[in-house]
Amino acid sequence: MPKTYTKNTMKQAIEGKLRRHFSREPGEASKEQIYEACALVIRDTLADHMIETQNQVEQNKERQVHYLCMEFLVGRSLRNNAYNLGLLGPMRDALADMGVDLSDLFEEEADPGLGNGGLGRLAACYMDGMATIGVRATGYSIRYEHGIFKQKIVDGEQVELPDSWLETGAVWQIPAMDDVREVRIGGNVNTYWNDEGKLVVEHTDYTPVLATPYDMPISGYKTDNVSTLRLWEASSPIPLDMSLFSRGEYLKAVEKHAMAEVISMILYPEDNHIEGQSLRLKQQYFLVSATIQDICAKHKAQYGTLENFARKHILHINDTHPVLVIPELMRILMDGENMGWDKAWNIVSQCVAYTNHTVMPEALECWPIELMQSLMPRVMMIVNEINERFCKELWNYYPGDFNRISKMAIVSDGVVRMAHLAIAGSFSVNGVSELHSDILKEKVFHDFYHISPAKFRNVTNGIAHRRWLCEANPELTGLITELIGDGFITHPSELQVLRTFGEDKKVLDRLAEIKRHNKERLAAYIKEHNGIEVNLGSIFDVQVKRLHEYKRQMLNILHILYLYNKIKDDPSAEFVPRTYIFGSKAAPGYVVAKRTVSLINSIANKINNDPDVGDKLKVVFIEDYKVSLAEMIMPAAEVSEQISIAGKEASGTGNMKFMMNGALTIGTMDGANVEICQAVGEENIFIFGMNAKEAENLAEGGTYSPMSIYNSNPGLRRVLDQMRDGFGDGKKYDSLVKMLLQGNGGPADKFMSLADFDSYVKAQERVSQMYLRPENWNYMSLMNIANSGRFASDRSIAEYAKNIWKVHTDFAY
Ligand SMILES: *Cc1c(COP(=O)(O)O)cnc(C)c1O
Repeated sequence: MPKTYTKNTMKQAIEGKLRRHFSREPGEASKEQIYEACALVIRDTLADHMIETQNQVEQNKERQVHYLCMEFLVGRSLRNNAYNLGLLGPMRDALADMGVDLSDLFEEEADPGLGNGGLGRLAACYMDGMATIGVRATGYSIRYEHGIFKQKIVDGEQVELPDSWLETGAVWQIPAMDDVREVRIGGNVNTYWNDEGKLVVEHTDYTPVLATPYDMPISGYKTDNVSTLRLWEASSPIPLDMSLFSRGEYLKAVEKHAMAEVISMILYPEDNHIEGQSLRLKQQYFLVSATIQDICAKHKAQYGTLENFARKHILHINDTHPVLVIPELMRILMDGENMGWDKAWNIVSQCVAYTNHTVMPEALECWPIELMQSLMPRVMMIVNEINERFCKELWNYYPGDFNRISKMAIVSDGVVRMAHLAIAGSFSVNGVSELHSDILKEKVFHDFYHISPAKFRNVTNGIAHRRWLCEANPELTGLITELIGDGFITHPSELQVLRTFGEDKKVLDRLAEIKRHNKERLAAYIKEHNGIEVNLGSIFDVQVKRLHEYKRQMLNILHILYLYNKIKDDPSAEFVPRTYIFGSKAAPGYVVAKRTVSLINSIANKINNDPDVGDKLKVVFIEDYKVSLAEMIMPAAEVSEQISIAGKEASGTGNMKFMMNGALTIGTMDGANVEICQAVGEENIFIFGMNAKEAENLAEGGTYSPMSIYNSNPGLRRVLDQMRDGFGDGKKYDSLVKMLLQGNGGPADKFMSLADFDSYVKAQERVSQMYLRPENWNYMSLMNIANSGRFASDRSIAEYAKNIWKVHTDFAY
């Protein structure tokens, strides 16, 4: 029974929680206690819905979607859940009565960093979409004790601190002790044929790891359908007190205990890069094994058999990290259920669907055979068998073509190629933007596409527009609602109606005024945290995303220095003022990325303190970029920097958040930028640089020479020389300049910033000129908002549901 509240009943509920949970009268409760009391009130309502949803799924025997991902970057929950349940108003009023400001209270909540960037945030946006449009969905991940590190900038350098999100984040998680599973790692496997001619598999000497689930209810907008995010925590069933055992066994027991406990301790902080650590592979298998055992046990309890498994379940793997679902489900069906290979394979390959997220070789997972053999011996046997059968099948398509078959094999060159396993064992493979899906088909997985073209699809990424627009930008949402009604909240394509206001001067002025207010809010944050006074009349030009060479923060930096020199050369010349805002974490082991963070801070220091510059140019590095900061930054942004080298950014989702909040994109024809350009029209976006084909040709032609660009372009040359010498804080960036001009073992300027520099400078000039014509700028901004509906995750989820999962939704996009 869905519960609704008035101001007074809400107040009673909060006060009740304060008394019963903290033994506090409202007047004596701390802010943190009040936050937790509010969270508990909301959680109760969600828990009721969650049980109802689960009962319905069971009764109606509906097909369910299980979304597996090593990362869910969920962001804060209190505001999102209160908004979705329509309880923001009553809660705000009840708290005001108690003398507490609700927006203040939101800041009490830790921002759970259970992901690195786009991949994890996508998974979270999809949970929102699935809950809202009525897909019966469960997400599965790991309950990392420490999520992505907290970033501090000390003397211009990134310093990593541990993140302990559980202190205020645990309130959203409900432990389910009756669903604890045991995952077995390592050990030995013996197989023999028994008297009935059946293969018996004995697994001995393994390390048992307990997987305890914690369930986070995920609300949808104005619906009773609640999804569950199930986070597994690892612990050891082996007690530490082993005094009865001999010394050797005691040590062995302690070792096993420690190995188990460490599995859910930390999130690996690499984005778009593989870290070949054995702990990482253990984490992946831990997630997969606990999840599959859980789904199978529940299925069996309901149906008494796993034979109809594929009709009732979709196992969706977000990137290859959970790809061991394929051999793990084979293991359970064969060893546990006595199924033969073909029958088991039919089930597995009809329920697994795979989303690819990258084409970069350094991010395509390959694990050494010996490592997999030692950590999961039975799974490795099955992978070998899958590989053998797969290669035999390939032989039919490419008879005699050993070369091609060994390139396509799952197990080859001493490693297991996880993407090949994913393609072989799933019924659907999709990329995340049209361009990316085309590159998969034409290049990266071309030979696989050739033998099963129907398997390959595209689903362009989307974002939870209720979080990124409605909640993050309430003033803009108010204006939109006034103009076109509130239908867009559940039907984001209705934002298109805003196009009819393109000539309405009053509307465009209001849009500018709202942007101004959001800029003021961000400026206050910058003043408080960076001590920098920014010019509210300047263009807020923002690049926030993980620090990666392919994303080309470097190109942005080169241009800023170029502008700086222009001002220095003629301080009285006309200049359209800009505030450059960066936010970016670098993986701790990624030397070039960390050096780039330091470079941004060095130039910020130089430029911000130069009296010749004044308020024409400022550079701000916002530390610890995360979801809750993104929610403040996006609404304040005017220019969205999406400048990756074409062909490398699978989709991007930051680009969508900016657009939806009325920022104009300066970008390359990469990832979803291509579709953003299509949606808004070329006249409402600033496109520059090489396209994917041109970039590829230049890279492969072997003629690219950044040194000759350096020699022939004096402006760029000056910038690079300055970088080499440093900016007066004792730091030199000669190693970065060397990367650009000579390369460091690899190719020089691998991501071709110098090749696109001129084109970028010109595009930035067009941006500045346009800003001088506010009516045109505001029109463009409105067109971006109006055409952003197709980038809502509701649309992505509707496509997955209809084209891949074949499950019912309450409404289509
Ligand atoms: C959206 C988001 C990202 C992804 O940004 P891209 O520009 O698509 O790389 C990364 N981190 C956070 C915190 C986000 O909210």
